[in-house]
Amino acid sequence: MSTPTLELARCNACGGTSFPAEVPGCRHCGAAKAQLRPEACAVPMRLLNFATVYSPLAPGLEVPAVIGEVELAPGLVEEARIDVPDETVLALGMALAPVWQTAAADVPGNWVFRPLAREVNA
Ligand SMILES: [Zn+2]
Repeated sequence: MSTPTLELARCNACGGTSFPAEVPGCRHCGAAKAQLRPEACAVPMRLLNFATVYSPLAPGLEVPAVIGEVELAPGLVEEARIDVPDETVLALGMALAPVWQTAAADVPGNWVFRPLAREVNA
């Protein structure tokens, strides 16, 4: 099984980005799906905001969980789970990388984000 790539949809008409890549149309100019092409998200992404939640907002979400606003591309921000033990290790603006996480066999996988180790940039 290959590791999926986190993709967004790039619009041929306006150049804008939408997420997920399977959106029915451009969220900026309304162009039809035929005008959109999948494009791999540039890594790393920036963490814009985060919070710890204590109630399961989505099926299968184990709480407490850290939810962050992640900038997938300039102007394209999505909420996603940040895969850290607790939010004290996070800082606004820090670099994140997407990780495809597969749960139990009867649950679809999903994207989570992890901070990039500082050593990587050294
Ligand atoms: Zn567009």
